[in-house]
Amino acid sequence: MRYPFADGHCDYLLSAVYRGYQFADPLPEQHIALPYMQQGNAKLQLFAMWSNLRLEDTPYTQCMNMAKAYHDMLKTYDVLQPFGPDFDPESDKIATVLTMEGAEPIGTDLDKLHEFYDLGVRALTLTWNFPNAVGFPGVQPGSPGLTDFGKAAVREMNKLGVAIDVAHLNNAGIDDLLEISTQPIFASHSNARALCDHTRNLYDHHIRAIADMGGVIGVNFCKDFLTTNAQATLDDVVDQLRYLVDVGGIHVACLGSDYDGIFGCPEGLPNPSGFPRIAERLAEAGFTPKEIRQLTYENLSNYMLRFCK
Ligand SMILES: [Zn+2]
Repeated sequence: MRYPFADGHCDYLLSAVYRGYQFADPLPEQHIALPYMQQGNAKLQLFAMWSNLRLEDTPYTQCMNMAKAYHDMLKTYDVLQPFGPDFDPESDKIATVLTMEGAEPIGTDLDKLHEFYDLGVRALTLTWNFPNAVGFPGVQPGSPGLTDFGKAAVREMNKLGVAIDVAHLNNAGIDDLLEISTQPIFASHSNARALCDHTRNLYDHHIRAIADMGGVIGVNFCKDFLTTNAQATLDDVVDQLRYLVDVGGIHVACLGSDYDGIFGCPEGLPNPSGFPRIAERLAEAGFTPKEIRQLTYENLSNYMLRFCK
């Protein structure tokens, strides 16, 4: 059985702009690339714009450059199409969604949120690993919830139809969102803390709450969020999927590789060409073909359809 795959997060775009990554002709260290995606039957990819605060360009300028790179890529490669209800994962096309990781490019200006929406952004990871105008990161345990501006931004995202991503966000921020967001929230690239105790990972009660409101959680392939062993493996990824299903139900789990944003990929998953191995392991673990398809593709694609109309 050849399953389609959907991936909730990658950091390809920053390297495409600042490190010369080419979509069809990958550098050795590059993960996201057309040949690997075709090999692995990757059918839906969220492309995040993560801005690096150490670069000279402001986060806003970096994001503008990345949005241009994204749209140039769609123009250059006919195989790519913006994700929407008419996308058929059985076709030879690959669907894409533009997202933003860290609200720094918006600053304290909701007009900029509209500007990025008009450029195609359909999901926003509220924070990266630093506090910003919206809220605080999980890597600062005990930090407070969303700011007043953050809450206003959430209401605006709900109105516009931008998916709210809690990857990197602190626990108090997630609690606030569970209270105020009128749309289901998601975690594009986060794991279960019960299996790997890291501040980037989610507690069971948040996994359940995200599942109950119709959100999804993408399993992150980063070694540090999967295991305390020296090397992560394919089995660590499958264990995370299985655990998320056990805690939140079959509809909550999906993939959020974090490719091109992580160093040291799990054994067997060097890039999207390895995706089919996940389906093989899920079958060995007793998941039915219908369930495997939910985990590899449908959960994330159904969630994103709410925002990609
Ligand atoms: Zn990230």
